[in-house]
Amino acid sequence: MSSTFSLDPGADQLAVRDWLHGFAADVIRPAAAEWDEREETPWPIIQEAAKLGIYSLDFYAQQYFDPSGVGIPIAMEELFWGDAGIGLSIVGTTLAAVAVLANGTDEQIGTWTPQMFGTPDDVKVAAFCSSEPDAGSDVGALRTRAVYDEAKDEWVLNGTKTWATNGGIAAVHVVVATVDPELGTRGHASFVVPPGTPGLSQGQKFKKHGIRASHTAEVVLDGVRVPGSCLLGGKEKLEERLARAREGVKRAGGKGNAAMATFEASRPAVGGQAIGIARAAYEVALDYAKTREQFGRPIIDNQGVAFQLADMKTRIDAARLLVWRASWMAVNNQPFTSAEGSMSKLYAGETAKFVTAQAMQILGGNGFTREYPVERMHRDSAIYSIFEGTSEIQRLVIARAISGMPIR
Ligand SMILES: Cc1cc2nc3c(=O)[nH]c(=O)nc-3n(C[C@H](O)[C@H](O)[C@H](O)COP(=O)(O)OP(=O)(O)OC[C@H]3O[C@@H](n4cnc5c(N)ncnc54)[C@H](O)[C@@H]3O)c2cc1C
Repeated sequence: MSSTFSLDPGADQLAVRDWLHGFAADVIRPAAAEWDEREETPWPIIQEAAKLGIYSLDFYAQQYFDPSGVGIPIAMEELFWGDAGIGLSIVGTTLAAVAVLANGTDEQIGTWTPQMFGTPDDVKVAAFCSSEPDAGSDVGALRTRAVYDEAKDEWVLNGTKTWATNGGIAAVHVVVATVDPELGTRGHASFVVPPGTPGLSQGQKFKKHGIRASHTAEVVLDGVRVPGSCLLGGKEKLEERLARAREGVKRAGGKGNAAMATFEASRPAVGGQAIGIARAAYEVALDYAKTREQFGRPIIDNQGVAFQLADMKTRIDAARLLVWRASWMAVNNQPFTSAEGSMSKLYAGETAKFVTAQAMQILGGNGFTREYPVERMHRDSAIYSIFEGTSEIQRLVIARAISGMPIR
C-alpha cells in the first residue's frame, strides 16, 4: 500500500476508470431518462453490471484496496456520471455490505455478503436500515428495539425504519436497533434479517424529487425473529461492548466515536458520487455554451457565461481533491483529525448542487425541460446535502473536530 498521497492513480486504476466510463456512457446514460420516469429499480441494468463484474463485492473490495487509495471515488464518479439514480441502484447494496464487513465475524461476512448481491443470473439487492421517522440526524434517538429470547437463542426486532434504500425489495436487510436505550448510540447493535423472514414488510415507497430510479421505502419490523447468529459481531462482543459503555457512561457520561470514524471513511465514496453528477452537468453546459448562439456569437463568448463555467470546473476539481485526500487517508488508516471525510462529502455535495444549478441556467429554457439531462442532474444533486449526513451535520462534525468543543 502506498504511503504517499499522489494525484496519479496509476495505469491500472486509470484503465478501470476508462472501462467504467464506457459502461456509464454506453449502458447507464442512455437509460437514465427512462428509469427516472419509471421510478423503478433498473433490474436489467444491475444485471448487466453483475455480468461484467461491476456489481459484486469483489469489485468494490478491489477498488478499496487499490494502492492508489482513490479507487472507490474514481469508480463512484464514473458510475454516477452516467446517472445518479441508476448509480445508486447499482451501489446501494454496498451500504449493507459495508455494515457486515465492519461489524460482522468472518463467518457472517462469508454467509451474508454473497446473498446480498445474488448471482448475475439472479441478482439481489440489500438494504441498510438505520433512519427512523424520529431519528434522522439524531441517530441516538432510534427506537427500534432488539430483545434477546434466551430460550430460543433468537433476537426479536420491533420498530419502523424509514428512507431505506432498497428497503422491502432487498434480499438481506441490515437493521440497526437498540438493545439498551439508556446507552444512546452505544446501546445500538446491527442485525441481519435473512431473506423471507416473517414480520418484515415494506411500508410506503417514497415518490422522490431525484434519484428516482433508486428505490426508497419504509421498512416495518413486526415481531421479526432472527437467529442469535444474525447479531453482527456476536453476543460475546456485544456484552463486552455494553459493559464498557455502561462503565464509560458512569465515569464520564461520554459516548464512543467508533461509528464516527467509520462515517469519516465512507463519506469520500458519497463525495465521489456527487462529483460524478457535477462533472456530467458541467460537460453538458460547456458543450452547450460553445454551440448555442445569441446576439450573433456563442454564449460562451460572454464573460458572464464563461466565468460561470470557470467557477464550475474549479469547484469540481477542488471537491475531487478533498475527496481523494479523504479516501487515501481512510485506506491508509490516517486519523481524521479535522474530519476530512466530512469535509469532502460536504464540499462535493454542495458543489453538485451549485454546478447543476449553474448548468441549468446556461442551458436557459432547454435546461428546464426533460429534453436535456441537466434538470434531472439538478434534481439528483439535491440529495447530496441530505443523505449520509446532511450538510449541517457535516459542518457540526468538522466544527467539533477542529475546536475540540461540544458545538451544538
Ligand atoms: C433518498 C434517500 C435515501 C436514504 N437512504 C438511507 C438508507 O439507505 N439507510 C438509512 O438508514 N437512511 C437513509 N436515508 C436517510 C438519511 O440519511 C436522512 O434523511 C438524513 O440523515 C437526515 O435525516 P432526516 O431526514 O430525519 O432530517 P432531520 O434530521 O430531521 O433534519 C432536518 C433539517 O434539520 C437540520 N438539523 C438537524 N439537526 C441539526 C443540528 N444539530 N444542527 C444543525 N442542523 C440540524 C438538518 O441538517 C436538516 O436540514 C435516506 C434518505 C433519503 C432522502
